[in-house]
Amino acid sequence: MKTSLRSVVVFILGALFILGLPWFLGKFGISLMNDIGIGALVALGLVLLTGVGGATSFGQAAFVGVAAYTTAYLTTHFDLSAWMGLLAAILITATCALIIGCITLRLGGHFLPLSTIAWGLSISLLFGNMDMLGRNTGITNIPPVSLGNVALLSPLQMYYLIWLLVGLALLFSYYLLRSRAGRVIRSLRGGSVLLASVGEDAFVVRLKLFVTAAVFAALAGWLYAHMNRFVSPSPFDLHASINYLLMAILGGVGFLSGALVGAAGVLISKNYIQDVLPLVSSRGGQLEAIVFSALFILLLHFARGGIMSFVAKRKRVSQQSVTADKKRYQPSGEPPLTERAPLAAGTQVLSVDGVVRRFGGLVAVNNVSFTVTAGEIVGLIGPNGAGKSTMFNLITGVLGKTEGRIHFLGEDVTHKSQRQIARMGVARTFQHVKLRPAMSVLDSVALGANMRGSAGFIRSGLGLNRAEENRILDQAYKQLQRIGLEGSEYTPAGKLPLGLQRILEIARALASDPVLLILDEPAAGLRKHEKEVLATLLRQLKAEGLTILIVEHDMDFVMKLVDRLVVMNFGAKLIEGSPQQVRADKKVQDAYLGGTGE
Ligand code: ADP
Ligand code: MG
Repeated sequence: MKTSLRSVVVFILGALFILGLPWFLGKFGISLMNDIGIGALVALGLVLLTGVGGATSFGQAAFVGVAAYTTAYLTTHFDLSAWMGLLAAILITATCALIIGCITLRLGGHFLPLSTIAWGLSISLLFGNMDMLGRNTGITNIPPVSLGNVALLSPLQMYYLIWLLVGLALLFSYYLLRSRAGRVIRSLRGGSVLLASVGEDAFVVRLKLFVTAAVFAALAGWLYAHMNRFVSPSPFDLHASINYLLMAILGGVGFLSGALVGAAGVLISKNYIQDVLPLVSSRGGQLEAIVFSALFILLLHFARGGIMSFVAKRKRVSQQSVTADKKRYQPSGEPPLTERAPLAAGTQVLSVDGVVRRFGGLVAVNNVSFTVTAGEIVGLIGPNGAGKSTMFNLITGVLGKTEGRIHFLGEDVTHKSQRQIARMGVARTFQHVKLRPAMSVLDSVALGANMRGSAGFIRSGLGLNRAEENRILDQAYKQLQRIGLEGSEYTPAGKLPLGLQRILEIARALASDPVLLILDEPAAGLRKHEKEVLATLLRQLKAEGLTILIVEHDMDFVMKLVDRLVVMNFGAKLIEGSPQQVRADKKVQDAYLGGTGE
């Protein structure tokens, strides 16, 4: 894993700027910077959760509040130190997030935002109605944070603590996104079937991300409580949550630095508006809400990508012309990832026995049986609606079975989940390509090697995954060389033509070191030339000894590739045999060749 030089320079310059800034600021400026830092921590969590992970939360201020009240209560009632308060605040906030995430994250569509609104509303009501939390007056006399004998009492002292934590959170997020865990996070928007194909459970990943964002909010809440030395319910209400979301969106939800820019933008303009509005009207407070809502709507309409996307767009254009073509991946020289032992010739890899699948009254797959042996390429063909995709989904575990048995390497996988089957060595591609368009070609392939690594959120975020990450990227690069795409490592996958995207998906599947590769209609939508390139690649893979099952509609495409064909029609197996036998068969000609002219 290589940290880019530009990022190092930007981070160091940023750190120097933060260190020196107080010399140029008055007391008011420092206080404002403290608020910005606290806001940026919360917004950073939202950039990860909403911007990258695609889950919108209106409940972040409530997490800030839980942490602030936890440390406030423990340090005032039990004389605990602020540091013990920090530990408790993180633990309790993370537990809340875990419980709420378990309940809400499985809900699709608008349920997640709605249920986080409910959580956001109820927490500030709870604070305001509990006697032990001081109801609407809140908790006062919270002790300051102490470092040894030094109590951090002044805004300037807090400034350094706050921005130290902001810097650490930024580093953590930066490393996290550039890791094995990060590739999975960045693939969340690609859907749960994509994640399952690389052995991950989308719900679990989203839950971890939700807890991570809540922990960032907890840091903010702890800082808030010990900076202001008192807490009351209103800074943690729904209104505050919306402000945090606004910060993330203003900065640009896809950019870590957007959290800083957005927090600064919102808080500085808020201050400005608070100064100006009373001059216009005596109802400044109400007007402020209206002005902010209007800004929010304008932003969503005209600048969805936020401020940072404008900065990035400029840069991308300049990079394309100068460096994009020169940039190459440099293999790290770490020992390569361990590979599965090759199978003995003649080992039975897949066996499908009398499988039936019904959709209501329709029998989509009707008592189909066939086998695939190590080193073979088998084609599963048939006209449209024959049941090929259904068969594909049964083998890969996407669909539950109704009758019959499927064995993989002798093990019964009939009732195993998609993830379990993927982990056993069945790699797949998709009929409709599932790549993340903005992810680089190299990262897209590295995602396929996901199951060969183990670094999780914490190890990745702390940068302790370097050796493993290097081995994964080396493996991805090796697969790119294998398919002839080296030289495009840093091109966004979405920029490739469809033919190359298909091939890229094959490379992603190969990166998992599969026993069996299953392709769903790989030739669909390809031009003649692209089909030839694909056929050449598949022949090469066969020569290397890979076992392949191709599910295909295009008969000409598979004829020259496969050892054996299984032909389906109306859900049933019509015939099985060599391409010559199948081509000569009268039933196939009737059902297929004659019928569709393919
Ligand atoms: P193929 O991939 O060979 O074109 P499919 O496996 O997609 O065929 O479909 C086989 C039959 O099952 C078709 O008649 C299709 O309409 C039906 N079918 C497929 N999936 C579903 C589903 N999820 N619900 C209901 N019917 C389905
Ligand atoms: Mg199909």
